[in-house]
Amino acid sequence: MSTLGNDTLQEEKEMINAIVFGQNIYSQYLIKFMENGYNKVANEFGKETIHIIAYWNISHSDPLPEDGIASIDSNKAKEMIETGQADILLIASQNYAGQQDFLSFFFSIGLDLDNIYIVDLESEFSTPKSIVDALIPYYSFRRLPYLEFHIADHCNLNCANCEHYSGLVKTPVFPDFAKFSQDLNRLKLFFDEISLIRILGGEPLLNPEIEDYIKLVGSVYPNAMIHIVTNALLLQKMPDSFFDTLKNCHDGSGIWISLYPVMNDKIDDLKSFLNEKGVAYGISDINSTFRKQQKLERSDDESLIKKFNTCFQKGCVNLYDGKIAACFLPFTTKYFNQYFNESLPEDGAVDLYEECLTTEIIRQRISKPFERCRYCAEPVDGPWHTIHNPSTLDDWVL
Ligand code: SF4
Ligand code: SF4
Repeated sequence: MSTLGNDTLQEEKEMINAIVFGQNIYSQYLIKFMENGYNKVANEFGKETIHIIAYWNISHSDPLPEDGIASIDSNKAKEMIETGQADILLIASQNYAGQQDFLSFFFSIGLDLDNIYIVDLESEFSTPKSIVDALIPYYSFRRLPYLEFHIADHCNLNCANCEHYSGLVKTPVFPDFAKFSQDLNRLKLFFDEISLIRILGGEPLLNPEIEDYIKLVGSVYPNAMIHIVTNALLLQKMPDSFFDTLKNCHDGSGIWISLYPVMNDKIDDLKSFLNEKGVAYGISDINSTFRKQQKLERSDDESLIKKFNTCFQKGCVNLYDGKIAACFLPFTTKYFNQYFNESLPEDGAVDLYEECLTTEIIRQRISKPFERCRYCAEPVDGPWHTIHNPSTLDDWVL
């Protein structure tokens, strides 16, 4: 077991064998940093030196680096971890960003999160101590790759199987801006940086304060990319100031359109409109099918863990009413329960105002399955449609 992060000076230093996440330029830079920087000063600070034994080839699109280090797939990574050939996984901070399902990668090889370290290659290396401090245990890393939050719980489209249950929100529900501002600043006490922040709903363009939310996020997290996630029904009615506000945000900020069949004949119009506004954007393929994964029967422990380990939505970290959770369901299940008089669990959230809370505690708690996960099944695709009026259980449940 690694003693990384333990400041106790050992008589004899062992070597730690590490796999590196990915094999892109950041992964390659990480290896140079470990060899030419970290390993040269590690012993001085009571840390073991680290020997890189392989790249874990995640994307299958990056070419094999020419440094002689092996490139392995997930099965081989799993074998190396299980047989003790590899002790830890290292991730370059630049690779730990966005809406990637990191936890599923780790769980897929049976890796204990205690044995994952982020190497913060973006910090300043002015002293030897700053070099060893760049190696940060996963749970202590003060950066979230991804955060999303609602600025409207209701929607103007009301798709069946909307995982936020927006069609069941019968009157407009907006967060209180002052309260949200306080909550985002509270989050900043635990996370210095967030790579990607998505403002969504429901339909976020329904919120008349949307520009204030964008400016708020830009001031609290100026290095974050901000995406507005919209069904685009109202996009061409938005004022120029909305697009100008987004253009003033960090590079990579813009509009992400989730496209539904009702907008099928509007794609070219939307593209011309957004090109004219000069704002960055992305448009999904038409969502002509929709995933359904909710059930009313409670899973056993084995199915729960299997489901959580493969659920990509556990990385959709959501901030809602002063709480944070691995996904949005701890916050939106109330709408399903109220509408259908059900009692699905509404657990899984961490209150940011709890006493003695730390970054480590938050990250540990949002990395574990919770009761609500027992009611998510393996998803089944069906044709997209809007909900019945009044809505019926088959709009939502397998
Ligand atoms: S457009 Fe999006 S938020 Fe609105 S109901 Fe459909 S899936 Fe839900
Ligand atoms: S409740 Fe659990 S299983 Fe369901 S979407 Fe959220 S994280 Fe995934």
